[in-house]
Amino acid sequence: MNDLIWINGEIIPMSEARIGVEDRGFQFADGVYEVIRIYNGRTFTLTEHLQRLARSAEALKIGMPLAVDALSEQICKLISASGVREGMIYLQLSRGVCPRNHVIPADIKPTLLFYARPLPPAPIPGEGEGAKLTAIPDERWKRCWIKSIALLPNVLAKSQAVAAGYDEAVFIEHGVVTECSASNVFAVIEGKVVTHPVGSKVLPGITRAVLFDCAAELRIPIDERPLREEEAIRSAEVFITSTTREVNWVARWNDRYIGQGRCGPVTLALHRALQMRIRKETVG
Ligand code: PLP
Repeated sequence: MNDLIWINGEIIPMSEARIGVEDRGFQFADGVYEVIRIYNGRTFTLTEHLQRLARSAEALKIGMPLAVDALSEQICKLISASGVREGMIYLQLSRGVCPRNHVIPADIKPTLLFYARPLPPAPIPGEGEGAKLTAIPDERWKRCWIKSIALLPNVLAKSQAVAAGYDEAVFIEHGVVTECSASNVFAVIEGKVVTHPVGSKVLPGITRAVLFDCAAELRIPIDERPLREEEAIRSAEVFITSTTREVNWVARWNDRYIGQGRCGPVTLALHRALQMRIRKETVG
């Protein structure tokens, strides 16, 4: 396996890659990113990720150096060259390099890079440990639908959670559960999957969207509404989703156990359906 990176149009060894000190991504977190899963040497939901990237970039008025189709082609090229079969692509688009100034200059060339990294094999649905969540006040900005590289509140929340023996930080705003530091969160209440609508406080997760499709096929109702923390703690099942985690059942919320202390039937059915979808799109 080669440690390669695609950077501004070239594939080179990671150790040779250079970014300007005055790149606005480095100085102002002025950029956006995506994490895309590779299964069996192929990408999963690549177009959906790149469309979200284009929406994030457009919101910040960062030009996309390549159109979605051309970018997809380059990503597939990098995956072949890297030899990664099970893993992920990290892609970052920053506004580019210019003399440091808060004011965004009119003509600036964005910095685009991506590289592949291996990941352990996908989990078997329902097996393994349930995630332990700890509630942390949501102090992020109000444009969380943009997948911005400005992740300091997420980084601090997750680090605080892990230091206290938890796996993820779940954000709470005025008693309402928004999302986790790096995943979307769902509760199963009276047979329905309840989750906060996407928008100012919730990233439109790609896994979340695929899971909604799976839920429709399984006739599991989805209820997108503000979910109160006390409801979530008392719910039958809680689970979190992300590109790298897929679906992870939740065992604990602070010091309380959720449901029966094992993966519940709705979470299990949705995770199995997601894996069937992944297999259909990436095998053969
Ligand atoms: N919410 C946040 C804050 C995230 O950082 C992520 C993933 O990184 C997600 C949700 C899940 O999104 P996706 O399913 O597209 O990976």
